[in-house]
Amino acid sequence: MNNLEKRFALTIRGRVQGVGFRPFVYRLAQQLSLTGWVSNSLQGVLIEIQGKEIDLEKFFTLLEQDSPPNSEISSIEKHALPLKTEENFLIAQSNLAGIKESAILPDLATCQECLAEIFDINNRRYFYPFTNCVNCGPRFSIIENLPYDRNNTTMKDFLMCQECEKEYFDPSNRRFHAQPNACHTCGPQLAFYDSNNLLATKIEAITLAVTLIKEGKIIAIKSTGGFLLIVDASNKEAIAKLRQRKNREEKPFALLYPSLDLVKKHCWLSDVESNSLTSAIAPIVLLKQLDGINIADNVAPNSNYLGIMLANNPLQHLLMYLLEAPVVATSGNISDEPICIDEKEAISYLGSIADGFLVHNRAIVQAIDDSIVQVVLGKEMLLRRARGYSSLITEFTDCSSGILALGAQLKNTVAFSLENGIYLSQHLGDLHNKKAFDNFQKTITKINKVYDNKISNIVHDLHPEYLSTKYAQSQSLNSLAVQHHYAHALACMAENQLTGNVFAVVWDGSGYGTDGTIWGGEFLQITSNKFSRFAHLKQFPLIGSEKAIKEPRRVALALLYEVLGEEIFNSQLTCIQSFTEQELKILKQMLKNKINAPLTSSVGRLFDGVASILAIEQKCSFEAQAAIKMENLASKVDTKESYKFIICKKQSPIIIDWKEFIANILSDLSNLIDIKLISAKFHNALVNMLVEIAKLVGEKQVVLSGGCFQNRYLLEKSVLALVQAGFSVYWQQKLPSNDGSIAIGQIVAASRVKS
Ligand code: ZN
Ligand code: ZN
Ligand code: FE
Repeated sequence: MNNLEKRFALTIRGRVQGVGFRPFVYRLAQQLSLTGWVSNSLQGVLIEIQGKEIDLEKFFTLLEQDSPPNSEISSIEKHALPLKTEENFLIAQSNLAGIKESAILPDLATCQECLAEIFDINNRRYFYPFTNCVNCGPRFSIIENLPYDRNNTTMKDFLMCQECEKEYFDPSNRRFHAQPNACHTCGPQLAFYDSNNLLATKIEAITLAVTLIKEGKIIAIKSTGGFLLIVDASNKEAIAKLRQRKNREEKPFALLYPSLDLVKKHCWLSDVESNSLTSAIAPIVLLKQLDGINIADNVAPNSNYLGIMLANNPLQHLLMYLLEAPVVATSGNISDEPICIDEKEAISYLGSIADGFLVHNRAIVQAIDDSIVQVVLGKEMLLRRARGYSSLITEFTDCSSGILALGAQLKNTVAFSLENGIYLSQHLGDLHNKKAFDNFQKTITKINKVYDNKISNIVHDLHPEYLSTKYAQSQSLNSLAVQHHYAHALACMAENQLTGNVFAVVWDGSGYGTDGTIWGGEFLQITSNKFSRFAHLKQFPLIGSEKAIKEPRRVALALLYEVLGEEIFNSQLTCIQSFTEQELKILKQMLKNKINAPLTSSVGRLFDGVASILAIEQKCSFEAQAAIKMENLASKVDTKESYKFIICKKQSPIIIDWKEFIANILSDLSNLIDIKLISAKFHNALVNMLVEIAKLVGEKQVVLSGGCFQNRYLLEKSVLALVQAGFSVYWQQKLPSNDGSIAIGQIVAASRVKS
């Protein structure tokens, strides 16, 4: 019976292209003496396999058990076929029929084998900066279309030499069908320019860059997903120059380190953090820095943390090998604009920032930033989902397909639902920025092209002024508006595969509410297809609207006015004194007459207001700046002390009053209590209040979402307190809890309406 011959057709979905899946199937079939073929298709990988039943059983088991390291099978469809006469097993031409569903693969960090070759003087790829194989190298950043074949990437311009071609067609080789395969002879090459002239090529281009970096120059380097600006991390003056030229006041810079060993010498490093750093994703990991390290203090001013990554491509490996010291590695852009990808553009656009340009001639199709993660409660938590992650999320298969979600305004991402998961774009940034908005439109056009105009519905944020909303309204497709905080909660639920009723705590900077005010300190009850607002922070006015977001002192003034009345205008508090008399006069009128002072219930803004009252921050140059400082202060003390919010249960939704809470902070301040302790008491008050509300609701499943929960102190304490009170708590790990995952929540919301 077991010797009976059979034939099957298999459709494998998931992350199965560009990760060495076909050669793996080929070798497996060879080993087991099976016949048939394997090919890439638009859905994933197709296999027809024939042989003795006993061998076929082994094949099916090993197919899942031994699949290549970077692959991920989300489903296998199998059906029997009539037997054929054939001699062997082949890798067939890609099958282009059918719907385009397969994943656009992420860029993967250089594997150990390629790394060994680059540093082996006897290897033909010694010091070759574009070495890659089926287990590593560029994907997402060079793919122009699906399926993932060399012709559909920017490597189509390079004709493989004989030796590379031999590897490419040899099923036993690690470079079998490695689409970006290349070497010194046939592949992309380096060049170094100053603003006008070609100064060096090949390895000399790297050594020149190294020399200049050591001299304190700013060098722009064409990296995996775009240009990075590199400067010596121990050179305070050079960093100050970069900050000034890049128009970036205080926002921390990420660092590129030459080795894991040096990272260990400079930071606290857990196993989870170490694994993140050295993974195929190779993200920036936020690490707690040790004292007395040789990193200039203007790299991450006022922060306990450093954002550190290790080299993720051969060019970076070579550079860091020669430098032997950490460097600042920040996106090659001006403030919030998208990262620059083209060398000609870079030389003119970044000309005012960089002193030199280390470039190459392998084109980048899509800009992609470095991903950022932090580890909280022993688990990796994604803060920015970009290089190494984009694009397909195969876990989310129960959404309706054909939905395009446009995300929010800041930290925009767009998403598109397919039969086998959700395509989530890379981080596109702040849509107010013209270049970011262009990139947003380009990304949608590309989704349309790659997935054959299958968009049937559009979902967007409820905010009437978001550019994504206006874009949705300009399209002739069915559209649906989804409330911002509901989308946050649904994204968190989707990631944690939660169904049924949940209680959601969503705290962020701002989002448009169903009542036309600005929400941000929300407690939502969520049932199968709708949500209700159970409670929220008592509202306060944002004096000057958008301006209040950049100036925490305006929030402080609004909060203090509520507590102290007109008396506040004569106060000696730093936050009040930071205004001119003229400014105070105008602000007073705005407050009293409610002019350009929209109401908000935002916890993010409450952080700002308190930070300003404590004289920590009056004006912000980047998002969450004040909150990050508050967290840093709070984490330096260990206390259970807390302020108290008054929960007014009489009305619905329940109102959380902060008047007494602010008054208590003021009295601590006048009693000269350390602001570290005040910060900790502030955080603890939020946690205690959250648990109290959760108890009132009584729902067992609690989800925490919104940008405020990127605050480690707040997240850790909230989770622990809720668990202790008997709740099951869920937060975001694989998707950012900030607006980067709004698009996912929007797709879930639209699917709930549809079904
Ligand atoms: Zn490799
Ligand atoms: Zn070659
Ligand atoms: Fe938000």
